[in-house]
Parts: sequence; structure tokens; C-alpha cells
Amino acid sequence: MSYDPAARRKTPLALVLADEIRRNGPMPVREYMARCLWDEQHGYYATRLPLGQAGDFITAPEISQTFGELIGLWAAVVWRDLMGAPATHTLAELGPGRGTLMRDVLRATAKVAGFQTGMRCHLVEASAPLIAQQRAALEPSGVPVTWSGALDGVAGPAVLLANEFFDALPVTQWIMTNGRYEERSVVLNGAGDLAFGDGSAVAPDVAELRASVGGAKVSLEQKTPDGSIWEIIPKTELVESLAAMADAAPLAMLVIDYGHEKSAFGDTLQAVRNHAHEHPLTSPGEADLSAQVDFDALGGAATGCGLVVDGPITQAEFLGRLGIVERARRLMTANPARAAEIESGVARLMAPDGMGTRFKVMGLRSRSLPNLPGFDAVIEENKHR
Ligand code: SAH
Repeated sequence: MSYDPAARRKTPLALVLADEIRRNGPMPVREYMARCLWDEQHGYYATRLPLGQAGDFITAPEISQTFGELIGLWAAVVWRDLMGAPATHTLAELGPGRGTLMRDVLRATAKVAGFQTGMRCHLVEASAPLIAQQRAALEPSGVPVTWSGALDGVAGPAVLLANEFFDALPVTQWIMTNGRYEERSVVLNGAGDLAFGDGSAVAPDVAELRASVGGAKVSLEQKTPDGSIWEIIPKTELVESLAAMADAAPLAMLVIDYGHEKSAFGDTLQAVRNHAHEHPLTSPGEADLSAQVDFDALGGAATGCGLVVDGPITQAEFLGRLGIVERARRLMTANPARAAEIESGVARLMAPDGMGTRFKVMGLRSRSLPNLPGFDAVIEENKHR
């Protein structure tokens, strides 16, 4: 880590949170993360435009148009070959950022016979500034788009996409303290600055720990060294609503995110500001906070609710099977002036020591659907052009 872990900037939200902690006591990590991202006045996603060169971080669809195009063709194959081309269907994205992925999906699928005719394009987004960006990005496509803050009301048959969405969901951290799991919290140190507490300050809600995504994997009786941290995404409701949708009508979803395949102890909360990592307590409200997705726990929760899980496999494997190399080659031939940029973008998405392996792709589907494409076989891209 090249940053100063002791750095604390007195952002407007840092002052508000310090004041609350002084008055009300320690604040659980989950609440800290939720406030940093979504505080109405000062929250990072609530008030800022996080993505792109001028923002704080860059994501796969922002790096290369091939990412969204291949995923678009994937969605069309699922709709046509796996679902049997239902006349009306939903294409939805959770956390669409600047709308770049969906823009590329819509462009790549515009000529797939029947796909967009009875399609409802729906975006799940909670940030007002980002909704405005998404509207501007998608207007030229001419496809009508609807928005909501949560999945409720989205009906199948549906193909759902989520790139770097789950990593933004606030996590609960449990920390072994004097031989017991306690909820890790943010406190004030002697200098009045934000600091992580050891856990003894907040009474643990053991029922929540057991019920949460990942809770099944940790034995509360298991003795691990003091300070061991167990992270969970307390978002079982999201998995439950996906499962309910998948029961009612065919559903196929791609979850693409950075994370680990096997559950493990560890603190993965991270902050990124202006394209550099910093300590998660340095700039409340002014840095992007995220945590690694525990695909083991997410898959377990999904299976437990009756969904079927494909993968996870690495992003490089998935995009390779979808034919990214061939697609890039064709794009470079058609746009010689942009060849170098196209090549370096694809190399970045596929990098064996970078995004290609750090990012994983997991498929979730209704029991009525067969294996999702890309998880078992090569897609013949030419068939769909
Ligand atoms: N998928 C985009 C953006 C990733 S950033 C890309 O790959 O470029 C995370 C996105 O998820 C943002 O659009 C953010 O506003 C949204 N988001 C995060 N938590 C959310 C929540 N709880 N409800 C709705 N949207 C959320």
C-alpha cells in the first residue's frame, strides 16, 4: 500500500460522522460504508459522478466497447436460444454507472431479429446524477428505458446484468474480539479522528450474522485468532427477490465483479479516489468505497433460494469464450486508426495479472434454463450477425 493509512481529511461528511459518533457511540462498518456512499447531502454516489478519466475509477465497459457488445450478444443468445424468443421480455441492469454497458449492448443487439421489439429496458439505479448520465447515454438508441431504485416490479422473462454492482453494497464486518465475534465499528481515536474499533463497542446481532449472505460459512463457535475479520454482504433480500423472479418466469443473470471464489477471513474494504487507493477512513463521501465480492457466499445464498449457479469463472475465460479476440480483430480491421486503442483496451480486460483474473463472472438462472452460454461452450458469434 502506497498511501498513508493515518491520513484523515476533514471532509464535510467526516465532520458529520465524527459528531454523530461522539454523541451516539461507535458506528458499525456497514453503516459507515452506507453513509459514505449514500448520505443524502454528502454521499459519494448520491452527489458525484464517479466514473471515467475525470472521475475516480474506470470499469470494463469504460475501457472497451467490446465488453458491452459481447455481453449484448450473450443476452440475445440467452433470450433466443435458451428462453425460446419470448415476445415480451426484460433486459435489466443493476448499477449501470454512466450507461456505457447498456449503450453498447443496445447497439450490438439492434439487428438481432425480434430482440428489441418487445423488450423492456430497465435500469436499477439509486443515484440521481448517474440517472441523468444514463438517460443522456441511452437516448440516441431510441429504445425506451425505465428506472427504479430497486428490483421490485421488474418482471420476467428477464436477462439481468450487474457489473461492479455487488462490490458497492455495504458489508458487515465481524471481528474476533476476546474469543467472540463482535461487529466491527468506526470509533474516534484520542485525537478525535475516525479509527476502526476492535469490535467490543457494538453488541453483536448474532441472528443477523447467521441469516446474512456468508453467515452459513462461518461457525460462531470456531476459534480464530483475535482480530480475524469475517465480511458479509447483508443483502439476502436481493438474492431472494431474484429467486422469486426466477421462479415466476425464466431469468438469467450475469454478475461480474472483483472478488474471491472461496470464502476466507479478511478485511477487503477499500477506498479509491482520483484513480489511487487510500485508507477507507481518509475521505468520507469523497472516495469510492467497495469490498470484494465473496462469490462462494453469494453462490451459496443463491442456491439456497432455489437459483442455479454457473461459474464463477475468470473474466478472461468468459470473454475469451465469447470471442473477444475475434471481435477485436474485426473491429481493428474496420477502424485502422483506432487499432492500437482497441488492442490495448482488450489487453487490459484480459490481463492475466490484472482485470482478466481479478474479475470473476457468475451466472444465476432459473431451474428451467440450461447452462448459460460462456460457462461451458464457445459461442459462435457469427451465427448472430
Ligand atoms: N456498472 C457500471 C458502474 C459501476 S459503479 C460500470 O461498470 O461502469 C456502481 C453502480 O451501482 C453505480 O451506478 C451506483 O450508483 C450503483 N449502485 C450502487 N449501490 C446501489 C444500490 N444499493 N442501489 C442502486 N444502485 C446502486
